[in-house]
Amino acid sequence: MNVYKLRPGISPVKVINKLQFEQDTMKSSPWYQSHKDDVSLYAVCPACNNPIQIIALYKRNENSPQPYGKHIPKSINGLAKYNHGAYLTCPYANPGMSLKKDNLRSDGDSLSLEILSFLKQQFDRVIYILQRETGIIFNEKLSKDMLISFLRMHGHQYVGINLCNLPWIFAYMTTAQSLFGKRLQNDCPLMMSLKKRKEIAFSEDNRIQSATNKFFEIQFAFIGHEMKSNGAELHETIDFVVSLNGKAVHTSKLIINPMRFHNLVNLPPERARRNPTLLRVAEELIP
Ligand SMILES: [Zn+2]
Repeated sequence: MNVYKLRPGISPVKVINKLQFEQDTMKSSPWYQSHKDDVSLYAVCPACNNPIQIIALYKRNENSPQPYGKHIPKSINGLAKYNHGAYLTCPYANPGMSLKKDNLRSDGDSLSLEILSFLKQQFDRVIYILQRETGIIFNEKLSKDMLISFLRMHGHQYVGINLCNLPWIFAYMTTAQSLFGKRLQNDCPLMMSLKKRKEIAFSEDNRIQSATNKFFEIQFAFIGHEMKSNGAELHETIDFVVSLNGKAVHTSKLIINPMRFHNLVNLPPERARRNPTLLRVAEELIP
């Protein structure tokens, strides 16, 4: 993998680079560990919280690759505990794994529980990213309906969800929701697509309405979670699809950026804008 973080959980995710890694760790323990005749470098996998070893940061041959991170199947004292179940479903360890929605991790699996507690603490940010990605303004009711749907699908146990892709895969593990009467961000790509449909009108505050008083069904859903890896970088996407009376009228591919969510989560408190209403929703619904 080409990314790392310094601690399990919500630490910022960084691209592996010599200067960055040195500045982050100040070359100290537990990231730099001296042995009898050698020094090993460690960090944490952004997705599964397992320890990784940083390879080829200094010892690079002419034909060896860029520095990269590699999972190691053991706990590193003071850094991270090894969890084999999380390793097996880590996209960096296993990018070709089968991503069937019915592939759920077992009840009580520690990574699943961690994802659920992370979602509870960061639900407002998850919704914020989805709002930016889709152009839909998620009010309290719609956010709540999405969360109820996610919990019913046991989304936190889905093998394809991890600490990096949470906002996108949260959306992926929900069922279709109605868009009728919902507000959109002014002139977002979705609104531009829908303006071309003669049956749809927009209110002054950008709510989707019927232009003809005739009922229609308009829904959105997230489908087609895909992961591809070229060995170092992971390319992960889902499709955002809006359908009108059952036919797709707007589709966009959402590219999952593991650094975006973690950087938002790690904003210093004075720059962070939290949404207490959504945090209360999450507090009420997540056990
Ligand atoms: Zn991993």
